[in-house]
Amino acid sequence: MKYMKKCLNCGSENKNENAFCSVCGGASFAEPTAAPEEIPVHVMPPQQPVPPPMAPPPYIRPVPAKKPFGIFDVLTILGFVSSLVGLFSIWVVLEPLAVIASVIGFFKGSRFKGLAAAGIVISIIAFIIILFQTLYNGNIIGKWAIEGALNH
Ligand SMILES: [Zn+2]
Repeated sequence: MKYMKKCLNCGSENKNENAFCSVCGGASFAEPTAAPEEIPVHVMPPQQPVPPPMAPPPYIRPVPAKKPFGIFDVLTILGFVSSLVGLFSIWVVLEPLAVIASVIGFFKGSRFKGLAAAGIVISIIAFIIILFQTLYNGNIIGKWAIEGALNH
């Protein structure tokens, strides 16, 4: 505990060991008094019940939702089958329908993206083949157009 003595001349507080007042130089002091103790004011907040930390929700392994087999997936298969049928056997008129069905199946369906893409490609190829055959048979393009350059 630090004692301070008060200068009788000017009233300022001086250290106990000072012979003269550090402010006015006076030599007369009052009796040392205990320096006012600074009592740190601890304002204790009222104890509030601390809620227990929320337990993190147990990790649930996300179950991959099985995508429903929708009408568009059926369309995909139909498109693919149509494209093959139109390519290899009959009803080449199926190809435009196969393209449409496959495109819709590709974008709307939840499965068989590969199948849909294949259906699109096969349909387009079949369509191009038919187109060239038609153009050739109708003499719209010459024989030269579909022959190799060195085949003559
Ligand atoms: Zn003084």
